[in-house]
Amino acid sequence: MKLAAGSTVVRNGQLLDGTGAPPVPDAVLVVTDGRITYAGPVAGAPPVPPGARYIDAHGGTVMPGLVEAHFHPTYFNVAALEDLDIKYPVEYVTLLAACNAKLALECGYTAALSGGSLFNIDHWLKKAIENDLVPGPRLAASGREICGVGGLMDWNPDFRRIGMEGLVLLVNGADEARAAVRRLVKDGVEWVKTYPTGDAAAPDTNDHHTLCMTFDEMHAVVATAHNHGLKVTGHCRATAGIKNALRAGYDSIEHGTFLDDEALDLLLRRDVPCVPALQFEWASIEYGPQFGMGQRVIDGHRETLEAGAESARRILKAGGRLGMGGDYGFAWTPHGTYAKELTFFVKYVGLSPLETIRCATKTGAEIMGRGEEIGTLERGKLADVLVIDGDVPADFAILEDRSRFLAVMQGGVVKAGRLAHQTG
Ligand SMILES: [Zn+2]
Repeated sequence: MKLAAGSTVVRNGQLLDGTGAPPVPDAVLVVTDGRITYAGPVAGAPPVPPGARYIDAHGGTVMPGLVEAHFHPTYFNVAALEDLDIKYPVEYVTLLAACNAKLALECGYTAALSGGSLFNIDHWLKKAIENDLVPGPRLAASGREICGVGGLMDWNPDFRRIGMEGLVLLVNGADEARAAVRRLVKDGVEWVKTYPTGDAAAPDTNDHHTLCMTFDEMHAVVATAHNHGLKVTGHCRATAGIKNALRAGYDSIEHGTFLDDEALDLLLRRDVPCVPALQFEWASIEYGPQFGMGQRVIDGHRETLEAGAESARRILKAGGRLGMGGDYGFAWTPHGTYAKELTFFVKYVGLSPLETIRCATKTGAEIMGRGEEIGTLERGKLADVLVIDGDVPADFAILEDRSRFLAVMQGGVVKAGRLAHQTG
């Protein structure tokens, strides 16, 4: 991705650096050749480099670009899981994924970790974004997900003679788990996404207390992935599934819903981050009935929401790390509404705005494995920056409103926001 040439000075705003530190009023951010060279109070700012371009924050907020830590670029606002795999051909889903990536960037998400994708679309989307062919967040790709045969993602009955080639690699036993990871290694992904457990969405045979992979399969995934330098995460609701994942050596946990003391201890021991993705549960309860969701599914989502919120609070209180990612791309949680996750964590889960921003920036970058480069506004880092017309900590929901974004920058280049439209 190209970096901006020359210098840009952002002034007349408060600075949130993404570390959780209190806002710096009347701050200055200096970007030179795409990297941050100063972020702090105006009093300590260096002389303005000659020829610098100015951005006036209008008394608003300057903060790091957001990191969506559970992004599904190929989910196209579906109302039924079945639609994810065979409703459209891969050619069309690729175009939809490019549109979703552009939208995510316009919403202030300058980086994202894919939680799984149809075929290997996210890997090639990442390449296209890095080569400036299409706009989008800096991506870490996962490609196809791995699930046990008969598990949550194995929904096509055998009589239909339709496999799950597009979305999921189905495995039986450790050998097949290793073989699946090796295919992903060849695909070039950075992360392996697995399904250790079921979900409220499948109450008959794979509900949120069901295991969908054995420990041996999960351990084989981790050993093979780590051997090739890949990281592993997984959809973990049931308590036993969370513990299996942590004992198998997972690098991150999606959801971490039914966490008990032992699971929390295992999580903290290796400082494994967790991405709860909770607004989806609330939206399922609220809007599910309009989409034909049955009562047992709604009840399961309610149980998931309450346990998931408590687990998230416990993790943060105990000094663990949470990423903000929301599984967006369902009909009731469409792409473009990603920041609802953040307001949800403040309003419903009880995190402070600054804690939530830290989770959505610094921790998100760390989970991606790019914490040295992005995620905070600190000297030397890439200038992935949001300039927002408003006081974000005081009026947190403005993060949901793209019209309030003055600039969305990647590497110092203004890619979206009002200023992007002005300068063409
Ligand atoms: Zn997901």
